[in-house]
Amino acid sequence: MAPVQHEPAAFDVVVIGSGPAGQKAAIQAAKAHARVALVEQERGVGGMCVHRGTIPSKTLRETAVQLERARRTSELAGFRLRQGIEVAALMSRLSEVVDAHVGYIGRQIERNGVTHLHGRARFVSPAEIEVQRLSGETLRLLPRHVIIATGSRPRNPPEIPVDHENVLDSDSILSMIYLPESLTVLGGGVIATEYASMFAHLGVKVTMIEKVDRPLKFMDGELVERFLGAFHKSGGRFVGNSVVAQVSFDGVSKVQTRLASGEVIESDKLLVALGRSAALDGLAIEKAGLKATSRGLLEVDEHCRTAVPHIYAVGDVIGPPALAATAMEQGRRAARHAVGLPPGASSETIPVGIYSIPEMASVGLGEDEVAKREGAPALVGRARFDEVARGQISNIQDGLLKIVADPKGEKILGVHIVGEGASDLIHVAQMAMLGGLSPDDLVENIFNFPTLGEAYRVAAFDLLSRRDG
Ligand code: FAD
Repeated sequence: MAPVQHEPAAFDVVVIGSGPAGQKAAIQAAKAHARVALVEQERGVGGMCVHRGTIPSKTLRETAVQLERARRTSELAGFRLRQGIEVAALMSRLSEVVDAHVGYIGRQIERNGVTHLHGRARFVSPAEIEVQRLSGETLRLLPRHVIIATGSRPRNPPEIPVDHENVLDSDSILSMIYLPESLTVLGGGVIATEYASMFAHLGVKVTMIEKVDRPLKFMDGELVERFLGAFHKSGGRFVGNSVVAQVSFDGVSKVQTRLASGEVIESDKLLVALGRSAALDGLAIEKAGLKATSRGLLEVDEHCRTAVPHIYAVGDVIGPPALAATAMEQGRRAARHAVGLPPGASSETIPVGIYSIPEMASVGLGEDEVAKREGAPALVGRARFDEVARGQISNIQDGLLKIVADPKGEKILGVHIVGEGASDLIHVAQMAMLGGLSPDDLVENIFNFPTLGEAYRVAAFDLLSRRDG
């Protein structure tokens, strides 16, 4: 069948990709009465975030956490999942969660009058985009502004034979049919840590291999130490300072990972989680006059504008922090800039949430950063979750909340939390820091009882006792 060509259609803004970055960009531009097209190559909107990343992984995590809670708070102490259980059975709510999310995004797109085009976009020139539809039809778009929000894909080194069956990456790990008995995880970043701890809590024998001495180098050391304690308790093994020399599948049932030290680790499956690269394949960015950086990303200015002024890039394509939360905000800000609206104040106070088991979250400065900046050690207050009633009731053993203040103890400069609920609790700290609050404000205000939030007061009391003696 010969491809069907249409007359070019003019739009104020064409957004490529419907993940968190693209959705928010399209909706923001439409709210400013721009004519907006949102191009998505997949059948469903939502991006990798909804279909392969955040939502599926957090749905599996929920099962692991509920099992762990049941083991801790009931007589199921020695309970193990039966062998050969299907991974899908552990995520039985996944299709409901994904459908609800996709439906919600779809309704928002429709309600705001965004034209949703299902097809693959590529640049023909800086001023023209072609959309190849599954039917063979080709649409031509003439946008005044383009927002590239095509996301990322796993960065798999060529020497590691990813076959998506025995050696998997973060896009294929959840397509495993059965829960394996053993899993090797390569990497010590966020995705590696989250999956390693989830599978360990589901009873899988997990070995995590990382080239430096500990996972999550950018997080507070005390938090990571507690995480590692819980990981080891759940049967996981962390192998730091190790370089992988070779990965191979034995052709029958085992993946063999040979370390430079000579040790060979055997497991049923292996997960490669060594970072992600921008998804720019097939987009023909060179026709738009764009070039990826040496790290394969698109470079942008503070408005998320590329070197070609009417073309913006947002979300994972521009690299770290590569989170859904930051992608949404970048999309919103780029769209506002494109349609001539002020972007609003931006904040450096960005929270980080890591959905390992136990969860970790952080905002602001760490102890070392404060010491470097202020030329004197930070004043720190700590609260363990087992010191607060909610932690005792819920039997949360690994929780710790740390408040980092300036050396005089007058201003909260950072908060670091490990333990269930950390990624929600951190928003109290975020708001306290935005409001310039002091540790005294946390002591002098009332928190609900019994809550984990009370840990803020306990940590603030601890900090004040060090300050005031
Ligand atoms: P994506 O969500 O990847 O969306 C890009 C879209 O563009 C895709 O739908 C793709 O089909 C489409 N596209 C690409 N090329 C074209 C083209 N040429 N034409 C048309 N469409 C195209 N972040 C968090 O904040 N919290 C978490 O808990 C979290 N967990 C994660 C867990 C995992 C396992 C992974 C892998 C990631 C996780 N992330 C998390 C990161 C988060 O998913 C990403 O930062 C986020 O999805 C980036 O959004 P995006 O809009 O840039 O891209």
